[in-house]
Amino acid sequence: MRLNELERALEGVEGFPTPSPRLEQYQTPAPLAARLLYHASLRGDIGGKRVCDLGCGTGILSIGAALLGASSVKGLEADRRALAVAHRNAARFGTPVTFVPGDVSDPELLAGIGACDTVVMNPPFGAQKAHADRPFIDAGLVLAPVIYGIFNAGSRHFFERYLEGRAVIEEIIGGLLPIRRTFSFHTRDVRKIPVEIMVIRRE
Ligand code: SAH
Repeated sequence: MRLNELERALEGVEGFPTPSPRLEQYQTPAPLAARLLYHASLRGDIGGKRVCDLGCGTGILSIGAALLGASSVKGLEADRRALAVAHRNAARFGTPVTFVPGDVSDPELLAGIGACDTVVMNPPFGAQKAHADRPFIDAGLVLAPVIYGIFNAGSRHFFERYLEGRAVIEEIIGGLLPIRRTFSFHTRDVRKIPVEIMVIRRE
């Protein structure tokens, strides 16, 4: 599957019915999701691999990983309403994804998921709750040797310090995350937030 085919397919993934600001529920736009997954795929981290999607929301990254030939995909998500949509999306695409309800900071849940080869994620950026992305990084490093994640641009130095002695940032790719007016505190209809796709590898 080519990048533009993946992107077009992922345009059809249904988003959050009633997005929660507390959980920072923004669906990754299809072009950005496709870019992350395609890049991971070119680096040999999707096809034939066990992929885990942390905070999978309505499933766009999980479904894309399955479309690119992952041997298994598990999507972990705290919000059951989002998971209901994720189930519907995966069924419509005919992609086998195991969705797991729960919190990424629950060690028992992570033990139950077991080892994966690759973690993908678009976690909360910590705009509503400081450091909300940290448990995602920690969980990712428990589950897999490599993480492909979408983060606020300019957080490299913070991450390098946070990861010191545990993991390294192998690569950073810049992008824009268009955020539509979703919550009452948003003042513009569409705002483009500079983001970075980071490849983080366990040491
Ligand atoms: N990965 C999806 C959703 C991104 S929004 C996509 O790319 O479209 C971030 C997601 O993380 C939301 O679905 C939110 O419900 C979930 N989330 C936030 N905190 C969480 C936590 N502690 N444990 C599990 N999921 C969480």
